[in-house]
Amino acid sequence: MSGMTTATVAARPATRPAVLILLGPPGAGKGTQARMLEERFGLVQLSTGDLLRAAVAQGTEAGRAAKAVMEAGGLVSDEIVLAILRDRMAAPDVARGVILDGFPRTDVQAAALDDLLCEAGQEVTAAIALVVDDEAMIARVAGRYTCAGCGEGYHDSFKVPARAGVCDRCGGTAFRRRADDTAETAGARLAAYHAQTAPLIAYYEGRGVLQRIDAMGTIDEIGADLADIVSRVSA
Ligand SMILES: [Zn+2]
Repeated sequence: MSGMTTATVAARPATRPAVLILLGPPGAGKGTQARMLEERFGLVQLSTGDLLRAAVAQGTEAGRAAKAVMEAGGLVSDEIVLAILRDRMAAPDVARGVILDGFPRTDVQAAALDDLLCEAGQEVTAAIALVVDDEAMIARVAGRYTCAGCGEGYHDSFKVPARAGVCDRCGGTAFRRRADDTAETAGARLAAYHAQTAPLIAYYEGRGVLQRIDAMGTIDEIGADLADIVSRVSA
């Protein structure tokens, strides 16, 4: 690290790094939107899995603790995850800010995260909830299928081939449906998401940092709304 100090200080902007938490159900395009925020705002998405793997590989103190727990078949404690997160957030490449992915999952973890950020003179800039219409989401998922030849996506209601049973793109006649793309499994996934996320949403609403975005629009529309919020809160 010696010799890098000057560059590190110069690269760190005067403003505090943005700490964003994206909350959205499966199928709401969270991954795509997080990548857009990375590119547009220079943020870095930190997923719990990647953080753990990197810390273990680097052999940091918290990484060694995580490795021992995982090798014993246990679940890595919040304390260890927070220690790894704290180490990671001190690195110069995240000076612009982070998008946390997969953490916090509970209001207890959210409170612990607030404490950790507070110690570093930071705070959660915004928790952004991608809000979907459950019935419409289920209908989207349940009717979708793809061409077995070229992978073109179709939908029973919203996008049927011009000639029934023939792919518009490659002329193929074989199509695939994922076994779990049914109304039942889509509904169960959404219910699990709501059950898990409700306490977090309430927590961040109480902290005054919750922002809601209508996530039923196109990828570009959702992206524009998200970018507006991030521009506003990180200004
Ligand atoms: Zn095709």
